[in-house]
Amino acid sequence: MYPASFEYFAPATLDEALALLERFDGEAKVLAGGQSLIPLMKLRFASPRALVDINRIAGLDELTQEGGSLRIGALVRHKTCEGSALLRGRYGVLAATAPQISDPLVRNLGTVAGSLAHADPQGDWGSALLAAGAEVVARGPGGARTIPIDDFFQGPFTTALEPAEIVTEVRVPDPGPRAGGTYLKLERKVGDFATAGVAVHLSLSNGNVSRAGIALTGVGPTNLRARAAEEALAGATLDDEAIRAAAQLAAEAAAPHDDIRGSAEYKRNVVRIFTERGLRTAAAAARAA
Ligand SMILES: Cc1cc2nc3c(=O)[nH]c(=O)nc-3n(C[C@H](O)[C@H](O)[C@H](O)COP(=O)(O)OP(=O)(O)OC[C@H]3O[C@@H](n4cnc5c(N)ncnc54)[C@H](O)[C@@H]3O)c2cc1C
Repeated sequence: MYPASFEYFAPATLDEALALLERFDGEAKVLAGGQSLIPLMKLRFASPRALVDINRIAGLDELTQEGGSLRIGALVRHKTCEGSALLRGRYGVLAATAPQISDPLVRNLGTVAGSLAHADPQGDWGSALLAAGAEVVARGPGGARTIPIDDFFQGPFTTALEPAEIVTEVRVPDPGPRAGGTYLKLERKVGDFATAGVAVHLSLSNGNVSRAGIALTGVGPTNLRARAAEEALAGATLDDEAIRAAAQLAAEAAAPHDDIRGSAEYKRNVVRIFTERGLRTAAAAARAA
């Protein structure tokens, strides 16, 4: 189906883009990679009066490291993350996520920030960035604000963003020198959304866990943080018993439903096994960092 008709704008500056969003008073949408928005418009689940294409705004496509933390600009594509040396090692949770998003066509155009703004509970970046303790920086008519990722996802396809706000970048804090992570995703076939996914991001200090980030995909109304599992690991030695106990707590944090991808019980089990495996991989990476 063709989308309903809409006006199209391709501003050259962020200020122009913000002015357009304000002018359309909630009836305009930001267009980044178009990999979620355009399908929704074709299905007529979304019929915005206007699209504000941000692809011509300079400076939004930068992926940089500053003082140990990462800045992922709003136009950084999945593909850029897939090829970036910056994301390997201590940010392994991000490096492992990028190549598991759909297929090369989607990865060439889709953006990390667009994935967060779209807030699909089966989106992979949401879990990776929850585990990494990221922050979302947004600009609106009142200026810029920083939204901790824990406050960002408010429900399925619903975020803390105001209609006239644009995500300008995502910041990932410095995980310290001994850090590592991974993302495990079960999909029915290559390119599919997750049946279930688990993101793990660990920081170690003197051999023990100083911070554990564990987040789940496709098993709740949003990407979910497995807080009890994270808290059980804080300060712990990562032995078999601690890993098994944390994996069990992560499985209990999942809130899956039966659907065409599998039963709730099956998905909960996948979360338990993936958390165990993810913790072992992340710990090995952190020790080698
Ligand atoms: C066939 C297919 C398979 C896919 N498989 C997966 C998968 O396995 N895993 C996965 O995680 N994703 C998957 N996706 C989704 C894909 O990752 C999208 O790229 C992503 O969800 C949205 O990014 P985008 O840049 O394309 O955003 P768009 O489609 O341009 O926008 C999506 C939404 O975010 C808003 N938005 C975008 N950028 C901003 C911004 N800077 N500020 C404010 N609002 C903004 C838009 O207004 C819109 O509401 C798939 C998509 C397709 C088409």
